Amino acid sequence: MPPTQGVPGSYRKIIHVDMDAFYASVEQRDYPELRGKPVAVGGSAARGVVAAASYEARAFGVRSALPSVTAKRKCPELIFVTPRFDVYRAVSAQIREIFAEHTDLIEPLSLDEAYLDVTSNHQGIPVATPIAELIRAKIKAVTGLSASAGIYYNKFLAKMASDQNKPNGQFVITPHQGPAFVEALPVKKFRGVGPATAARMQRLGIERGPTSRQSRSPSSSSISGKPAPGIIGSRGRSTRGPSSPTARASRSAPRTPSPPISSSSTPRGRSLYHSLPRSGAIARRTGSAAGP
Ligand SMILES: [Mg+2]
Repeated sequence: MPPTQGVPGSYRKIIHVDMDAFYASVEQRDYPELRGKPVAVGGSAARGVVAAASYEARAFGVRSALPSVTAKRKCPELIFVTPRFDVYRAVSAQIREIFAEHTDLIEPLSLDEAYLDVTSNHQGIPVATPIAELIRAKIKAVTGLSASAGIYYNKFLAKMASDQNKPNGQFVITPHQGPAFVEALPVKKFRGVGPATAARMQRLGIERGPTSRQSRSPSSSSISGKPAPGIIGSRGRSTRGPSSPTARASRSAPRTPSPPISSSSTPRGRSLYHSLPRSGAIARRTGSAAGP
């Protein structure tokens, strides 16, 4: 692996790559008659659920996890397509091969999403932006499909960033932009905050990153009724301290919860760095102590 010594910048470089409307895009790729049409991958039967929706369908409010009956009501023209998971898995293997051309540190989240740590990468490219561009171009060339990417020095904001210029775009959050980015995020974007918890937090006046930091820490059980390991976690400081480059970065880092490293497909010992600071820190800090 090429050395990273002398590479500018001391932050980790994480790219979150996310295929655009993956299952639906594969179907539109393979069946041209579906292109430009509202497509839902999933069963149309009474108890069916949308697994993925094309962008044309999303324009009608059709989303994954929506009951198919509701989806059809929102979009009467909606075309239901039976999932072909063998094909999606094959495409997923293709994109992972492309990732592996750049780094060994790959943490897949699902068939169509992964975190890549490119701090040290096989080409010795010192900046993440052109690496993300290269990867997205290769994905397009090999699979015919578009991907979006987000870049930051931890996984949480890299994932948020990949949403910014979707579809077929990428977005970089620079280290100094991180705190402001977190402050603007709705609480429902934080891991561990589902729709019900978000609604309860909203009733408590906690709507965005900064309000969650400034608020008195509600116990996780009072909000969600169960321990949530993310933003409203009750654990306090992580005992798994970051390794040195991250430790250095975290001194000025936003108090961002970090998703746990838990991918069954990531072999033990190869999971990415024990990223960012202190899960639960946002909820635990109060008042002026919370300032970035
Ligand atoms: Mg996706």
